[in-house]
Amino acid sequence: MQSDIFTEDFTTDPYWWDETPRPEPGRPDLPQRVDVVVVGSGYTGLSAALQLARAGRSVLVCDAEEAGWGCSTRNGGQISRSIKPGYEELTRRYGADTAFGIIREGANALDWVTDFVAAERIDCDFAVPGKFTAAHSSVEFEKMARAAENQPEGLAEPLRVVTRAEQHAEIGTDAYYGGIVNESTASLDPAKFHAGLLDRVREAGVLIAARCPVTAIEEAAPGFRLTTGRGVVRARNVLVASNGYTGAVSGWQRRRVIPIGSYIIATEALPKALMDRLMPTDRMLGDSRKVVYYYRPSPDRTRILFGGRVSAGETDPRKSAPLLRRDLAAIFPELADIRVSHSWMGFVAYTFDTLAHVGCNENVHFAMGYCGSGVSMSGYLGMRVAQQMLGLKEGRTAFDGIGFPTRPFYTGRPWFLAASVAYFRWRDGWSR
Ligand SMILES: Cc1cc2nc3c(=O)[nH]c(=O)nc-3n(C[C@H](O)[C@H](O)[C@H](O)COP(=O)(O)OP(=O)(O)OC[C@H]3O[C@@H](n4cnc5c(N)ncnc54)[C@H](O)[C@@H]3O)c2cc1C
Repeated sequence: MQSDIFTEDFTTDPYWWDETPRPEPGRPDLPQRVDVVVVGSGYTGLSAALQLARAGRSVLVCDAEEAGWGCSTRNGGQISRSIKPGYEELTRRYGADTAFGIIREGANALDWVTDFVAAERIDCDFAVPGKFTAAHSSVEFEKMARAAENQPEGLAEPLRVVTRAEQHAEIGTDAYYGGIVNESTASLDPAKFHAGLLDRVREAGVLIAARCPVTAIEEAAPGFRLTTGRGVVRARNVLVASNGYTGAVSGWQRRRVIPIGSYIIATEALPKALMDRLMPTDRMLGDSRKVVYYYRPSPDRTRILFGGRVSAGETDPRKSAPLLRRDLAAIFPELADIRVSHSWMGFVAYTFDTLAHVGCNENVHFAMGYCGSGVSMSGYLGMRVAQQMLGLKEGRTAFDGIGFPTRPFYTGRPWFLAASVAYFRWRDGWSR
């Protein structure tokens, strides 16, 4: 391990936790009976809990760790429209109407988070700076420019092509071949967003049980009997909101999500002039690689947060840090000797069809599988699944009825991941 790359106060906790530490867990007595138990206290679970509690349901949210310990306080804070497959691909799979509806859900999710932060007055550095997605090869640039100029009718995003000659207005590097600005991309501080959501949920009367894993969910008419780290609770309904951390307690869902580690570093504070040269705007940044890099200035513009996947298998954040710094320096050579103050990781949930899924299996509700873009989709689908549990027609989504695929013999351990990542990293380099 290269220890000289780390600052003296280096930590493997997320940068966001400096300002927003994990809340004190408390040890509330668990009720014997509630209307709903929610498994997982990230954006999905809390958004659903808020909706249910405001509709008069008694709700217990259990988390195996501290509240918000999962992806919801570890992410990069970039908020795009979240749908991975394009309109043509979705049309081939499901027909034009469903394809249109699914892409619209991405826009609905972005609108939801924008309105929610404003309506609930959540102080989380929310902004709409847009995003610059850089092309890592000239071939990719041509593809991206063509796609930007031929967007499906009724689904157009505010995109602008930036040539290589113009790209210094967006990013201080020559490592790319131009790219696309999307003016609609938003940003926030993920841990502050989670903290604000948690406040609203508590105010609505939801009980949060941190460090209280749910270890068994059994049907016991007219509802469920849940075994937790702190005793048995009966509930009329259950929502599984464990996403990339879904375990054996909900085997059906576990066989349908692929947990993939995503890794981020924060640099030490940089001089203002250097920040302004490398990142002249507050835009979110990313590139066109299949194994993507995503990065941004911190909300106070003192540091760069740089994320991606740098090893085929899962690794320790102390080991991913030098690799991420190496790749950061390939984009910004001035940062070759910069020190790293934070390096952390979390498990995002991919799915076999690269779509989010929401619904109910054997009376257990779920929403998960945001494929790395869940900051808005998780809270939005958390709200929708709660509406479904309440029997409200607003709970319908374009994802209903598309099926949640798995693969034969897949049990939740992605044995194929290392080979796929290695292949795509090789291809990303090759296509230059
Ligand atoms: C490094 C990283 C960067 C990311 N960057 C972005 C980004 O820039 N933009 C974007 O849109 N998305 C991003 N994401 C994805 C986004 O953060 C997630 O999609 C979103 O936070 C998912 O929220 P969630 O509530 O569904 O799951 P989580 O926040 O992961 O919460 C799941 C919770 O379930 C708990 N749990 C699991 N099993 C049990 C059990 N048996 N009992 C009790 N509790 C249990 C876990 O402890 C965990 O706290 C990123 C993710 C990571 C890891």
